[in-house]
Order: sequence, then C-alpha cells, then structure tokens
Amino acid sequence: MELDEINPNVLNVKPSAMRKFDHDISSDPQIVKLTLGEPNFNVPEHIKKAAHEAIDKNESHYAYYWGVEELREAASNYYRDKFGYHYTKDQIVVTVGATEALSSTVKTLFKPGDAVILPTPAYPLYNALLTLNDLKTILIDTSDSGFVLTPEKVQQAISDYPDYNIKGLILTDPNNPTGVAYTQEQIENLAPVLKDNGIWVISDEIYGELTYGQAHYSISKLLPDQTIVINGLSKSHAMTGWRIGFVFGPTGFIDQIAKVHQFTVTTPTSIVQYASIEALTNGQNDAAAMRKEYLKRRDFVAKEMKEAGFDVVHPGGAFYVFAKIPAGLHMDSWDFVKTLAKEYHIGLMPGDAFGDNAYIRISYAASDEALSTAMKAIKQMVKDKTKE
Ligand code: PLP
Repeated sequence: MELDEINPNVLNVKPSAMRKFDHDISSDPQIVKLTLGEPNFNVPEHIKKAAHEAIDKNESHYAYYWGVEELREAASNYYRDKFGYHYTKDQIVVTVGATEALSSTVKTLFKPGDAVILPTPAYPLYNALLTLNDLKTILIDTSDSGFVLTPEKVQQAISDYPDYNIKGLILTDPNNPTGVAYTQEQIENLAPVLKDNGIWVISDEIYGELTYGQAHYSISKLLPDQTIVINGLSKSHAMTGWRIGFVFGPTGFIDQIAKVHQFTVTTPTSIVQYASIEALTNGQNDAAAMRKEYLKRRDFVAKEMKEAGFDVVHPGGAFYVFAKIPAGLHMDSWDFVKTLAKEYHIGLMPGDAFGDNAYIRISYAASDEALSTAMKAIKQMVKDKTKE
C-alpha cells in the first residue's frame, strides 16, 4: 500500500520514542529499567477479590455505555471526598483508562483547526492526539519558570498567535515527566487568564493522589464551566493494565462525549468496572501506603542525583525525577540514556521524548534495590565521562 493513501495526520504522528527505547533495551538481560510510569505494586487484594466475585456472578455483559451506574456514583463520592470535585454521577463517563478519556475529550471538545496550548515538557500522548485530530498545537516551554505554566506565558501565547482560535489547554497536575505539583496559589494565578479568554482546560489529574507535602488542588474548583477533568485508577490503585479512567465535566459536554466514547470503545470491561466499585468504596487508603514508599524513594533519588551533579526539578508529585544533565558531560538526553543503557545497563527516559533534550526522566516506581543500583551506575558514568 502506498503511504499517500494513509490519512496524513496519522503519518505525521511519530511512534512513541519512549516505548521503542524501552523495548530496545529490554533485550539486555542485565538491564535495570527506570523507564515507564508503571507502579511496581500489585493491585490491592480486596480489589482482586471483587474481580473474582464479579466473574462468579456472571457480570459478563455489556455495561451501560456511560459506565456502571454504581461505579459512577462511587466515583462521584470518592473524588468529592479526595479533591472536592463537584461532579454528580451524571457528569461522569467511565473510560478505558485515562488515555481513552483524553482521546474522547479531544475529539468532543475541539473541531479541526482549533488551537490547543500544550505546556512542555509533556506526556507524548497529547501531541499525538492533537495531530491526529487536525488541531494546531501551541507549545509553551516551561523550563524557565520552574516547569510551571504561568499566566504571563499564556498571555504571551495569545499575543503571539493572533490568528489562532485558541480553544483549549492541556494541564497535567501533578506532572509527568517533571514531577511538578502545582500549588493552590499557582492554580489561582493561572485561572483568570483562562477564564477571561474562554480557554477550556483539560486537566489531567491521574497523579492527583501522589503528592508529597501538599494536597492536590484541582483547577475544576475555580473553572467549573470550562474544565474537563481526567482521572483514573492506573496510578492510585496500581491498576494500569485494568484500564479504568474517568471523564468529569459539565452536563452538556458529558452528554456529547458519551456518544464519542460509545462509538469508539462501547464500554470498559464489565468485570473490571465491578471491581472498581470496590476500589472506590473501600480503597480510600490504598494509595497511602504506596505514597509513603514513593516519598522515601523520591527523597533518595533526588538526593543521589544532586550529589551526582544534576540539577533536579523539585518533585512535588507523581513518581518521576526530572534531572538536567551536567554540562561537563557534553551529552544530550539521547546520548546520555543510550550510553547509560549500553555501558552501565540502566534504562532511563530521554527528556527529548517529552520535548526537552537537556533532561532525563527517572521513574522511581521501582524497587529500592533497582534504584540503588541505578544511582551507583549514574554516579560512575558521570565520573567516567565528564570532560574537563
Ligand atoms: N496521563 C498521564 C500524565 C500519564 O502519565 C499516563 C500514563 O503514564 C496517562 C495519562 C495514561 O493513563 P492510563 O493508563 O489510565 O491510560
């Protein structure tokens, strides 16, 4: 088949550099990987038991396409109690992970040609979704403002692109890859410029339960009529492979996204939806034990990386450390991760996969032993490769 027969938007999407690099280095039997954002905890036992029960009860039919009503009710209560979300069960659709939630949201909210602001570095899925849906992307580099999107930067983008119909912004809080968690004050500073300019916020809060030293503050509290919230169980309950996400939004939007969702995936697996009711009804403390472990690991990795000579972005949330490669190495992020994988058998993610080639991302959702081995190897590599 000739490529010119393929939708050009698809041709314009780059394959995930992240997944490919992770795959390539996996053939090394000695490799210690701190690459993907994959919790190294098992699904809590009470949720597994609920899944078994759902099978035994023959919960094997198509669920209602919005999601099982009891699950939407449980999500409404759970996220209200955790983060103060104000959404009723009729303002929630259950999706196949946060990924489908984001994809269906982008399809529902924007029309071809609209422009969307994307603060960078960013989780690669967003750029791909915007390209696939014929949208213009306005990248805003946040590396000079502590990786926080400021109102001044939004204002600047509006002035720089007078001919664009800037319809939306994708905000990731807490952030992947930087680990930055916005403070309430930073969110309060940002909201007015978005409100004044009618810019919709797609607020990806998948790491909302993983903040250290501060509570997560959702922008949906300030902009209830122009925020779509994305969340799910992948990170908070270590359920990445179970594929449960949620979209929360104003009624008019939810009615429309429900159709997009229905005609894309119909519904997530019924068994998993029933198990997820248990996660949200009796699993309020499931993330706490993981958070405690992550915090210990974060402190260890941040300290070690600073000692090794890296500038480390303060990681207030998620499970990533984003670190600037020391100038003395004269390496960009690909040089660094390839050398580290080939010669020292440690896998990290290049910042370039997220839009910043001067940094590397470390996922500390890994065992203490893996982290300790990796830190020793990184220190050794810096020592070996630093040029005067
Ligand atoms: N959003 C962000 C910021 C992520 O880091 C990830 C996964 O790493 C996702 C969304 C996808 O989540 P899910 O596994 O629920 O599709």
